[in-house]
Amino acid sequence: MEGINFDDFGPEKIFQVYNPRLGMRGFVVIDNTALGPGKGGIRMRPDVTVGEVFSLARTMTWKNALADLPFGGAKGGIVADENAFTPQKKEKIVEAFAKAIKSIAPEYYIGAPDMNMGEKEMAIIAKTIGNKKAVTGKPKSMGGLPHELGSTGYGVFLATKMAAEYKKMSLSESTVAIEGFGNVGVFAAKFLSEAGAKIVAVSDSKGCIYNKDGLNFEKLEKTKLKTGSVINHTPGQILKNKELISVNADILIPAAIPNIIHSDEVKDVKAKLIVEGSNIPIKFEVEEMLTKKGVLIIPDFLANSGGVISSYVEYKGGTEKEMFKMIERKMEKNVALVLEKSDKLKKSPRRVAYKIAKERILEKCDTCKI
Ligand code: NAD
Repeated sequence: MEGINFDDFGPEKIFQVYNPRLGMRGFVVIDNTALGPGKGGIRMRPDVTVGEVFSLARTMTWKNALADLPFGGAKGGIVADENAFTPQKKEKIVEAFAKAIKSIAPEYYIGAPDMNMGEKEMAIIAKTIGNKKAVTGKPKSMGGLPHELGSTGYGVFLATKMAAEYKKMSLSESTVAIEGFGNVGVFAAKFLSEAGAKIVAVSDSKGCIYNKDGLNFEKLEKTKLKTGSVINHTPGQILKNKELISVNADILIPAAIPNIIHSDEVKDVKAKLIVEGSNIPIKFEVEEMLTKKGVLIIPDFLANSGGVISSYVEYKGGTEKEMFKMIERKMEKNVALVLEKSDKLKKSPRRVAYKIAKERILEKCDTCKI
């Protein structure tokens, strides 16, 4: 099967679903369920492939194990272009997908929002399957804990705080640059500025705004809302969004697109700490170069796990307050564990985080090759 590497961990099950009358086609890849039912979002894109869904499912396997949640790794995909049909047709397609996966959700698979799939679609899936536990990211009225509460950004903030302490940097004396001002970037900026850090640069798809004396968080939020971009924040110097990686800031937080630092740009990076809010913001080889240069990197599947921890609290029927408490508890424990082991083994946090996740899975896995 194209794009799938069957290895020591999985994937255990691959579902292909098709409804010829509606033209609905999709997949669910359940990578590994040693720790619990496979958990991961469902994306809708015209060119989504089973290979892409598999690699995302594998990332969820590591992320859930590292977060110490009773979830395995999985992901879903619906091959459709939402711009090519009416909202009513989209609903029908989502409903058909839900009917097709009813036999596996929530026993083996628990869905969540991803590209072009939000709380409305999660409500359709839960209703069609007839079980609220089949998906997370549902509307509040159905017991959902939406991403808009800032769970991922809060986790990124906590990871930053702990990593800064480990690096003997005081947050209130540190400067921060944040790439992206969406769900993750906004909340990371909010909690960091509340903790006294100085946000000196923020970017979005239109460009980057820089001020060595600091940008005001409330003003940034208002400017983004009113004008559509952070670059209109005053006072500030407008830079190309690419320039964010080389501004004078102690901490760099990628929270938008993949692959933001190339190997020939490693020399330009001034940050001493990088906390990866987005997924795969830096290729492994480039991370290794940065690590050699002395930059501490908190890897994506640890730093941005606040979102999936929140999903677990929703799955258990917990409240917003319980969600924030659990993110705090889990981030504190897991970030500390990774940093301690990284120090002891003299290996990068990413290598150590993989090792911990793998060990947790192998301990409970009767299908894995040991
Ligand atoms: P979002 O769509 O809410 O925001 C993305 C932001 O990135 C926007 O502000 C956009 O303007 C900006 N952007 C786009 N292109 C850019 C560029 N070239 N330079 C700088 N900024 C640019 O997305 P999000 O939910 O904040 O997710 C961001 C990343 O974090 C993604 O990789 C996502 O997969 C990952 N992630 C998100 C969550 C979550 O809970 N939202 C959880 C885990 C991982």
